Amino acid sequence: MKKQLNKLFGRHLAGFIAVSPTLASDLQALKEHHVRLRLSQGCKRYASSNAESRLITISRAGGRVYQLASIAHEKVHVIDQQHRHPDPLQCTMENFVDSKLDNEAEAEEHALIVYGELLSAGVRGRSDSRTTRYKIWRDGGFPALRKCMETTVESMTQNTYRHFLEAWWCEENGKAA
Ligand SMILES: [Zn+2]
Repeated sequence: MKKQLNKLFGRHLAGFIAVSPTLASDLQALKEHHVRLRLSQGCKRYASSNAESRLITISRAGGRVYQLASIAHEKVHVIDQQHRHPDPLQCTMENFVDSKLDNEAEAEEHALIVYGELLSAGVRGRSDSRTTRYKIWRDGGFPALRKCMETTVESMTQNTYRHFLEAWWCEENGKAA
């Protein structure tokens, strides 16, 4: 994993990982679960993961703090939540959206722990949507963050999470969004 990280991020960025104990242990868990990391080109900032193919993709566009905290976020989806992804064909749209938003808030809370550890260690990144979420979470805890996820913009589609999840459920169930 160390070699992979050096190759992906360069030695400079890989060196920051040690300053976040949470991220260091996430990377250990990813290694144990044979999850691969990939950095993608392009100017859009996004992160995604696929639990089945055990692959996490982070865009280069986001800057180092965004990239590192996003690994922690996707780790929760791929490993901790691997048996907790609701099946859109087995639940109502409301239940599907609610449990996906719960998962999203849980993954993001974990990313914010890493974000905070990086900040405390003096690692600075450019300001982004996570900067705002960090303040919301620090002041209001998980409930405030969960509420915030409702209106957060999904990085792949640029729609709000709620809209994105409703459209996903509709597509799976053969209904017009
Ligand atoms: Zn997520």
